[in-house]
Amino acid sequence: MAGILYLVATPIGNLGDISHRALEVLSGVDFIAAEDTRVSLKLLNHFGIKKPLVSYYEHNRAASGERILERLLKGESCALVTDAGMPAISDPGEDLVRLCVENGVRVVGIPGPCAAISALAVSGLPTQRFCFEGFLSTSKKNRFAHLEAIKDEQRTMIFYEAPHKLLNTLRDFLEILGDREVVLCRELTKLHEEILRTTLSGAIAHYEETPPKGEFVIVLRGAPEERQKEMPPEEAVKVVDGYRNKGHSLKESAKLASEETGYSKNELYNMYVNRPVNPPV
Ligand code: SAM
Repeated sequence: MAGILYLVATPIGNLGDISHRALEVLSGVDFIAAEDTRVSLKLLNHFGIKKPLVSYYEHNRAASGERILERLLKGESCALVTDAGMPAISDPGEDLVRLCVENGVRVVGIPGPCAAISALAVSGLPTQRFCFEGFLSTSKKNRFAHLEAIKDEQRTMIFYEAPHKLLNTLRDFLEILGDREVVLCRELTKLHEEILRTTLSGAIAHYEETPPKGEFVIVLRGAPEERQKEMPPEEAVKVVDGYRNKGHSLKESAKLASEETGYSKNELYNMYVNRPVNPPV
């Protein structure tokens, strides 16, 4: 009979957050698959657990996943851990789970810390309906396409971001989604935990002064209902034209018109550039 793949959540900073059940499972399985074996070894040493470790990470997931599956099919049990948090959430664990599910191997979750859920819970933003957007693409084109696709999303949104990309990401949010409430959850559960509840423009001003350091979750308020566009596009283009006629650049006109029309600066810019030259009368 096939063994079991356990997805064991590990602390996202505070070792006190490990669960009894996580320790029981880590001590009881045949082997542990870890994202970074050095990181997991520290955790296991701290709790006095000795187990064979195999590496399972972004760049070896195909080959390593097959080897893990083979052992599971022979009846061994495996605990999958990542560097921090719940395996399979924004890490390659997702692929191993799919492989096991496709091959009839039982997958059991051992729940625990997850940066996204911890951030959402403390954010103070609506939690009844939310969506997880993970990391934005590093390609500007894909990032903008992602943001365009969610600009009317009314649920609270959760993003992961690396500190060196944070400022640019906040600037992209502001440009495409407009100014709105945001909560920056930094170094959750750690000594320097910090929750900054502000607006996108406020967060940009803050991090221009104090460059971001550490790990971040961004929790962003969804689009307000009234932001739903009611003005027909051709009317919105006329508002842009009005500002153009007053001598503003197209970029400025799109920005000014965005507050009146419910369309984003980018949308107005594109609508203006692509407007019919001789509109029907
Ligand atoms: N599977 C993990 C989980 O359940 O939270 C997330 C893995 S993802 C590769 C790592 C990202 O999670 C980081 O870049 C950061 O955005 C977020 N993160 C992890 N630990 C964090 C912490 N202590 N405080 C804030 N964000 C954290």
